[in-house]
Amino acid sequence: MSDDEKKLRPATRLVHGGGLRSQFGELSEAMFLTQSFAYPTMEAAEARFKGEDPGFIYSRFSNPTVAMFEQRMCLLEGAEAARATASGMAAVTAALLAQLRAGDHIVAARALFGSCLYVVEDLLPRFGVASTLVDGADLSQWKAAVRKETKLFFLESPTNPGLEVYDIRAIADIAHEAGARLVVDNVFATPLLQKPFELGADVVVYSATKHIDGQGRCLGGVILASQALIEENIHNFLRQTGPALSPFNAWTMLKALETLPLRVAQQTASAARIADFLAEQKEIARVLYPFRSDHPQAELARRQMTGGGTLVTFDVAGGKAAAFRLANALKIVKISNNLGDAKSLVTHPATTTHQRLTPEARALIGVGEGLLRLSVGLEDTDDLLDDLARGLSAARG
Ligand SMILES: *Cc1c(COP(=O)(O)O)cnc(C)c1O
Repeated sequence: MSDDEKKLRPATRLVHGGGLRSQFGELSEAMFLTQSFAYPTMEAAEARFKGEDPGFIYSRFSNPTVAMFEQRMCLLEGAEAARATASGMAAVTAALLAQLRAGDHIVAARALFGSCLYVVEDLLPRFGVASTLVDGADLSQWKAAVRKETKLFFLESPTNPGLEVYDIRAIADIAHEAGARLVVDNVFATPLLQKPFELGADVVVYSATKHIDGQGRCLGGVILASQALIEENIHNFLRQTGPALSPFNAWTMLKALETLPLRVAQQTASAARIADFLAEQKEIARVLYPFRSDHPQAELARRQMTGGGTLVTFDVAGGKAAAFRLANALKIVKISNNLGDAKSLVTHPATTTHQRLTPEARALIGVGEGLLRLSVGLEDTDDLLDDLARGLSAARG
C-alpha cells in the first residue's frame, strides 16, 4: 500500500484499490478469463519461473483479476498480503493446514461454523494435529488449553448463530504468550465493523460468499496476513493444492466491494431496528444482537466493533413448532442458510446447520429448538417489519 493510498478512507479504497489495467486503459476492472499466460521468449519464461520477473504464470496461483480482488481486500483490511480462494471453507482449511503439521495442537472456540468445526474436530486430528474446543467467552479456558505444542488459536466473533462476542485482544495476548498465532474468521462482523489485525490477530479469513459478494452469486474466500506469513506458509500451500478462485468470481467480488460499505451500513441499521422491534414482542423469548444493551457482551461488542452487524438471532417462545410457524408465514424473508445477502434470509439452526450436533452440544452453544437466525438484507426496513409482524401472528398459532 502506498502512503497516498493509506490516507484514503475505506469507501474510496474500495472503489479505486487494486488498479491493474491493460494497455486499453479500461475504466472498469477487466475480467481475465485465462488459464495461462504466454511468454515472449524462453528467457522470459525462465525469468518468470525464477521469480525474477513478477508477471503471471498460471491461474491456479496468479491471475490479474484475482490479484485486483486481493489488493482491494488488503486495502480494506489494512493487511500486507492476501490470497483468494474458491470458497470460505477453502480459505479456512488452507489457513489452518498450511500452518500446522503432525504433532501440533490447535485451540478453537466451540461455537464455530459447522464446516469449520468439522475441520478442527474431525479432519485435523486425522493428520496428527490435536484440537481442544473451549468456551470462547471464558478466557481461563483458552489459557488452560495451552500446551507446549499449541501453534494456533482459532475463533469467530460474533459467533454463528448465537452472536456471542469474544475478546479478540485478550485472546490474541494469550495466544502470543504461548508462542501461538490467532486466526480470526471475521465473516459475521464483516471487514467494515471489526478490524481483527488492530486487535492482535495474525491471520484473518473470510467467506467472500457472504457480505463481500452480498448478492448471492458466487462462492469465494480470502486469507489475509503479513507478507512473511503469506509467503512462508500460505502461498505455496495454495499454489500446490489448488483451491483457486475463478477469475469470473473474483471479478464479481471485486465489483461488489465497491458497494460493500453502503450495503453493510444499510443492513446493520435495519438489523438494529428489527432487533429492537422483536425484543418488544411477547412471542419472542429472547433477542440476541451485539449492540443491544441486553446482550451479555454488549460492552465488549461496542469496544471492538463499530456496529452490531447484519444478523439478528432470536428465540421464539413455543419452541420448534412456533419458530416454524413464524418462518413459514414470512413472504419477503426467504428460508435459506446463507447470510449477508441483499435478500433477507431466515434459518432454524437446530434442524439445519447445527443438525449434526447432539442436543447437548447444541445446548452448549445456545442453539435451542425455538432459535431462529435472521440475516437482514437490503429490503425497506418497514416491509421487513410488516413481514415479521405477519410471522409473529402465525407463531401465536
Ligand atoms: C459461510 C461461512 C464459512 C464458509 O464459507 P463458504 O464460502 O460457504 O465456504 C466459514 N465461516 C463462516 C463464519 C461462514 O459464515
